Amino acid sequence: MDKYNELADLIFPNVIETLEDLEKRYPVRNIDKSQRVTRFAPSPTGFLHTGSLFVTLVDYIAAKQSNGVFYIRLEDTDQKREIEGSGKDLIEQLKVFGLVNDEGYFGDEEKGIYGPYVQSKRKEIYDIVLKEMIRRNKAYPCFCTEEELTELRKVQEVNKVRPGYYGIYAKYHHFSPEEAIKLIKEGKPYVIRFKSEGNEKNKYKAYDEIKGQVDITENDQDIVICKSDGLPTYHFAHLVDDHFMGTTHVIRGEEWLPSLPIHLQLFQTLGWEAPAYCHLPVIMKIDENGTRRKLSKRKDKEAATSFFIEAGYPTEGFLEYLMTVVNSNFEEWREENKNLSIFDFPFRFDKMSLDGALFDMGKVSFICKEVLSRMNSQEISEKTYEWSKKFDKELQGLIERDFEYFKSIMNIEREKENPRKDYEKYGDIKESIKFFYDDYYNEMLNNELPWNPNIAKEDIKNVLNTFIAKNNMDLDEENWFANLKEIASSCGFAANVKEYKKNKEAFKGHIGDVAEIIRIAITTRKQTPNLYFILKILGVKGYTERINKVINKL
Ligand code: GLU
Repeated sequence: MDKYNELADLIFPNVIETLEDLEKRYPVRNIDKSQRVTRFAPSPTGFLHTGSLFVTLVDYIAAKQSNGVFYIRLEDTDQKREIEGSGKDLIEQLKVFGLVNDEGYFGDEEKGIYGPYVQSKRKEIYDIVLKEMIRRNKAYPCFCTEEELTELRKVQEVNKVRPGYYGIYAKYHHFSPEEAIKLIKEGKPYVIRFKSEGNEKNKYKAYDEIKGQVDITENDQDIVICKSDGLPTYHFAHLVDDHFMGTTHVIRGEEWLPSLPIHLQLFQTLGWEAPAYCHLPVIMKIDENGTRRKLSKRKDKEAATSFFIEAGYPTEGFLEYLMTVVNSNFEEWREENKNLSIFDFPFRFDKMSLDGALFDMGKVSFICKEVLSRMNSQEISEKTYEWSKKFDKELQGLIERDFEYFKSIMNIEREKENPRKDYEKYGDIKESIKFFYDDYYNEMLNNELPWNPNIAKEDIKNVLNTFIAKNNMDLDEENWFANLKEIASSCGFAANVKEYKKNKEAFKGHIGDVAEIIRIAITTRKQTPNLYFILKILGVKGYTERINKVINKL
């Protein structure tokens, strides 16, 4: 028997299937050339990073727009770094953003004929490919110990040569299969390395869908493809999984671009067609010191998508923000297509920024305000309620007291051409509306009210009493305001500011001061949404009770 076969059988005695069997098990997808198959391939090592959400958004939109398939694969081969349950959490979080896959890993289950979609369950598949590579002399066992590899690094440093396991430094590359068989039989532990035939002097161009032509230096490193625990490394799993799962576009972070020569070489070695590669810009930020750097898991709260979900940023607003990062012409399109979904945007890989995407919290806030202001009162009320159930029990309680009342509050200055843009996130709502609820209002009354110090208490009282007597809530907003002006005049305040400015001495203040007095009395605040609508919602009985309480305290 051929010695390579013997070595392959010795390492994988139970593997009987071949590459042909795998090709049959995972047939080529029945799609046409224009359809894209994309995948998000997270490692279950923690929370969903904002950068990963960005990648997933591109995966999703690239597949959807071509009528293709977006699937998720869990890359859990680094078992030391794995955090229990985080795979499932990632899926849950993506669901919150509406980025649901068509196929693959779903947390509790898997769907699709190209599975398993969890790498730790795919050992049997990797083994078939590894066995074949050993048979073809494209991979070999390497028995180097950690100490030997450290020693090698030192030698290379001293000799000022490139670090790594290649050429003359790749000790076991040059071992015969007989020698390898002997060491395995002696029980020496080993990993499996790729047997590179590359030469670093060979340069060529490859194509990246985003970056265009990229320079490639042929890989000559004998990278590890199977670790001593029998699980594959990223490079090898990428090769096998993206081939047998029929990925057409590998969309991933730019940090993988330096590995592209290895990946292209692996595909070529197996005689498989490589997927299209799309390396996305890394999300950066300008930090407190003005330095441009990567969004960091450790330092930046905005690196975790959970931060935005918990604070109550509308998920559609956050995605909309990310779309502005995806394609620079998105905003222009949005201006012209206000009512379409972001997924209708004609996305293009070649319109992506090349030099790192800068995360802009101010813009997130601006867009989220826009998005919240465009929701009708039913929608914002429901969404706020859903958010409150998870993140703010107190607000949940308030909404549950009377949903319609809450909705009428949310309706203030909404559903019109220029709606009020006061909320950036659901988390802003409670503070701004709690005065509508009597128990909160009464508690707030215990604090000093922010009266204008230039207006005498007696005059404030007079305004409040006159208001109770003469206010008329049956009038529409315009006539109500005209009436408020009359109330102002009758109390010695100017009915308009211009008049007041001409002759300040003649007045106690102006209409704005009167409105402020009413506002403070019924809300305890100087700044609130439209006063007329607040009065409407509180009703005559409600606001009269409040004003009387304030008068008694003055
Ligand atoms: N598991 C890899 C990562 O989390 C996936 C990269 C890829 O999409 O290929 O970085």
